[in-house]
Amino acid sequence: MNVIAYLSHPDCALHEMAPAHPEQAARLAAVDKTLQTDQQVAAALQAIDAPLAEPAQLGLAHDADYVATLLSLRPTPDSPIRLDPDTAINMHSLSAARRAAGAVVHAVDLVLSGRHTRAFCNVRPPGHHAERDKAMGFCLFNSIAIGALHAIQQHGLQRVAVIDFDVHFGNGTSDILRDHDNILLLSSCQYPLYPLDEVPVAGRSEINIVLPPESDGNAFREAAVSQWFSALEAYAPQLVLISAGFDAHADDPLAGLNWQADDYAWVTSEIVRLTGAAHGIVSSLEGGYNLDALGQCALAHVQALIA
Ligand SMILES: [Zn+2]
Repeated sequence: MNVIAYLSHPDCALHEMAPAHPEQAARLAAVDKTLQTDQQVAAALQAIDAPLAEPAQLGLAHDADYVATLLSLRPTPDSPIRLDPDTAINMHSLSAARRAAGAVVHAVDLVLSGRHTRAFCNVRPPGHHAERDKAMGFCLFNSIAIGALHAIQQHGLQRVAVIDFDVHFGNGTSDILRDHDNILLLSSCQYPLYPLDEVPVAGRSEINIVLPPESDGNAFREAAVSQWFSALEAYAPQLVLISAGFDAHADDPLAGLNWQADDYAWVTSEIVRLTGAAHGIVSSLEGGYNLDALGQCALAHVQALIA
């Protein structure tokens, strides 16, 4: 059994875009509560406070002007600031987003130092829609891309695999990492669905599984076996980062796929098996908006990371 670094921070629960918004603080509590229901998982989690990512770390994935502009915003209790039709910030949001990115950066450090082989970041806001110079889709800073570039630039890694199984296409991660020499980017998404106007054209280090509405976990499994896994095995990544969105679940209110918790257990176990049991994996929460399903899927995912 692996002891898993479990990164989170109270700031992440203070960020709110609007009352009753689906990307809500209760998501973190649902994940945490469900993880604690499994005694083996609860015993394996080592809780660690997520540090604030520094502006220079945010700048690994984002334009310096974008970082400076975002960090200069000063929303007040009475006036949140809207960044796009889906994305707003309150007075705690920038700290939350810096903690979310800082969690992934710190998790990468912990895993590459050998102190942990696995890490799970229970953080929000999510990050995978944030592009190099654009906040969108509930996302401010692209935590996974920042973590991947930190692993390459600060630790000298040459082969980092980024796997994104959130139901929405990770346009931001693709925007930032798709043609990077030291990245293999594997993603799955539903199409048609936000944020896609058309089927995404893959970059040279990118493989996208595109799934039709109402397809189930078996369709994903077949596609992952035929499109992802041989590439992942051949790549022999030195580190795996996972954008762990759980909104392909059948009960999710924001999407139309029919995955079950078992599908997240399966894909996680396969990633562990293909990359080696002792291999470093850093996973960070992205989407997942049905609280019960989110908790169960996150538990299935973390159980597979620990096994
Ligand atoms: Zn999503």
